Amino acid sequence: MLEEVFADIQADLRYDHELNGCLNCGICTATCPAAHYYDFSPREIVQLLWTENLEGIYDAMQEKIWACAQCYTCAARCPFGNSPGGLVMLMRETAIKHGMESAKNVLRPFSRVMLKLVSTGNQLSPDMINPDGFADWGPNISKIDAPLQLLRNAIPMPTLNTTKTAWEVNLKTSVELYTIWEDTGVLDQLETIDENLFDVISDIMDEKREDWADFLDEQDDD
Ligand code: SF4
Ligand code: SF4
Repeated sequence: MLEEVFADIQADLRYDHELNGCLNCGICTATCPAAHYYDFSPREIVQLLWTENLEGIYDAMQEKIWACAQCYTCAARCPFGNSPGGLVMLMRETAIKHGMESAKNVLRPFSRVMLKLVSTGNQLSPDMINPDGFADWGPNISKIDAPLQLLRNAIPMPTLNTTKTAWEVNLKTSVELYTIWEDTGVLDQLETIDENLFDVISDIMDEKREDWADFLDEQDDD
């Protein structure tokens, strides 16, 4: 199992590009915002991979790798040209591929976002960001609760100064997105992580594809 996980991380085409060696100098950790707040160190992650510490890699994938903010400050600073943030990304993708419990736990709160994205083409419309819409986010939601209609009116672009228009996505675009998600393996990953959500989303995709086929038939008839 540990060998298989590491082999998957290493097999990614990006791996050799992201990891060139490691001086263990700690510059990446010194500049890492996540390291300031969490029990997380990009230096430690890179060392685990560089020394092929399979058990340590697997342990880090249980929790630590999910602390990274993917800001890539580390990649800009590393004297070896490593990208610790990029390596974390590979580890995350591998955790998803293997259906690891840590990946399921981290991604579970995003299932509603994913469902919205797939069914409407948008994640959110701005007017949904309020305490009623996000009761499960707790008191912090109030920090971004604002008079959106008023704020949007101050935005000059006509397509942005409403809380509604950003919500509508063309049917053809939705169907094209489904093809991309299928061909790039996103849906396979979703099935590994959350089978129920995958089933719901598959039904929505089938329906929209039928609608699109009906629309095309109607055009042919005209
Ligand atoms: S990844 Fe780069 S910056 Fe971080 S400890 Fe290794 S050599 Fe130093
Ligand atoms: S990409 Fe991740 S590891 Fe790198 S500096 Fe940002 S938070 Fe830290």
